[in-house]
Amino acid sequence: MRRLSRRQFSQMLAGVASSCALGSAQTPDPWAGDSIVDCHHHLRRTPEANIAHLDGAGLSNALALARENSVEQMQALEARYPGRFLGWFASADITKPEAEALLTKAIQNGARGLGEIKFHVEAAGPELRRMYALAAELKVPILVHFQEVPHTPTEGVFATGFRNFEAMLKAYPKTKFIGHADAFWANISADYNNESAYPSGKIKPEGVTDKLLSDYPNLFGDLAANSGNNALTRDPEFTPAFLKRHQDKLIFGSDCSCSDGKGGGISQAGNPGASRLAGKCVARETLTVLKKAASPEIFKKLTWENAHRTYGLKA
Ligand SMILES: [Zn+2]
Ligand SMILES: [Zn+2]
Repeated sequence: MRRLSRRQFSQMLAGVASSCALGSAQTPDPWAGDSIVDCHHHLRRTPEANIAHLDGAGLSNALALARENSVEQMQALEARYPGRFLGWFASADITKPEAEALLTKAIQNGARGLGEIKFHVEAAGPELRRMYALAAELKVPILVHFQEVPHTPTEGVFATGFRNFEAMLKAYPKTKFIGHADAFWANISADYNNESAYPSGKIKPEGVTDKLLSDYPNLFGDLAANSGNNALTRDPEFTPAFLKRHQDKLIFGSDCSCSDGKGGGISQAGNPGASRLAGKCVARETLTVLKKAASPEIFKKLTWENAHRTYGLKA
């Protein structure tokens, strides 16, 4: 037999590894058969592209994050794939004076919440304050992207000044706030000071986000994206008790941009800081963590019941 070069040998090992991966892909996902609603599914261009992600990741349902003018697109999706989408949220440019009118109209047209609200404004600034008030007036939740560290030189930051956010929770007690993204999740650790978008390592207890979730009945947490996944995986000893503590307030979502629900296409577009999840499906990664770290009863709350209650989704 011919001696294999080091390179050939490692290629052979890679082949073995990939056929193993193929084998494991055929065993059912731990969440197979469960009803799961992905509450951070950005509306894709075609009905098929939306369903490809749900089916590939083994997700029964989703809530779509869309635009204020997405009503027809949502109706087309519902007609083509009845029952897969349990509702939608609407977003509009909140720096424009017409935002309130457009979003009000979207809610009248059937949207169930405001979001994702991701703009270059301050968390306690006038644009977002108007939206917090509007959400309370319309009796719908508002999903906000908090980010203080830019991912690229040109990206900028969003809903900044997380340390001023507590005052908003106090000032708008009738508003249902859904916290999401880098700053929300990095502040799960008490030692965070905007050093990086996705801090790693042990979590120092009593971080701002953990305390706010405990102290304010009007705050909920969206587990989506690399930020949510990072917070749930950076300190595995911390995670089970955190999920238990906030079992009625955390809501599963993916915010995944992979094409097939298996990590295909570009899953972390334009965000080098999130390369830990490149080539992976965020939905799968986070569901795997939740299955391991939560009891079946809590898993059901995080992936189904909390969303239904908090977002008023169809049964
Ligand atoms: Zn976001
Ligand atoms: Zn995915």
